[in-house]
Amino acid sequence: MSRFLLIGAPGAGKGTQAERLAQTFSIPAISTGDIFRFNVKNETALGKQAKAFMDRGEYVPDSLTNDLVRDRVSQADAVEGFLLDGFPRTGDQVVELDSILAEQGKSLDVVIQLTADTDEVVRRLLNRAIEQGRADDTEPVIRRRLEVYEEQTAPLISIYASRGIVIMIDGLGEVADVTERILEALAARGFEPGL
Ligand code: AMP
Repeated sequence: MSRFLLIGAPGAGKGTQAERLAQTFSIPAISTGDIFRFNVKNETALGKQAKAFMDRGEYVPDSLTNDLVRDRVSQADAVEGFLLDGFPRTGDQVVELDSILAEQGKSLDVVIQLTADTDEVVRRLLNRAIEQGRADDTEPVIRRRLEVYEEQTAPLISIYASRGIVIMIDGLGEVADVTERILEALAARGFEPGL
């Protein structure tokens, strides 16, 4: 069983690493940002509500976010484990995730904190704006997203650290090197693919 969470500032490389780790461990990567973007693109009711928040770099309200995660982690492919990317992002969401998992007799195993300095993440996000054209990758919105991360999400790390489940990983450098660092740190905690 591997129930992991990736946490880090926007642009720290969570999405990229989430895909690689999910593949290595044969578990689904669950990204609330991707789920919201899918809904925005397909103009669903959820997408229409979420879009206004996302375009400003603000968090989507918990009333729209929590049920979505509850449904997703309860699906069959997540029974053996999952990697959460981008949820929880607030203290209330931590409480919500704890209760969703507790209902299933489960808990998080490891929180992988990806670090990267601000100049680097702004540079990466501006590049991604050119490559992918994400509406929330314009400079003022990027700055707001970083602010919101510092205010609302960075404090979660100490909550998980007090449970002794955080591994801190330097997110700078080649993608494959960062993956290797994460895999080593997970192995040191007894989490290896195929076990
Ligand atoms: P991400 O791709 O994880 O950076 O998410 C993109 C955007 O989706 C965020 O800036 C938020 O507007 C929204 N979002 C994703 N996950 C959450 C969450 N757990 N809580 C609230 N909003 C979220």
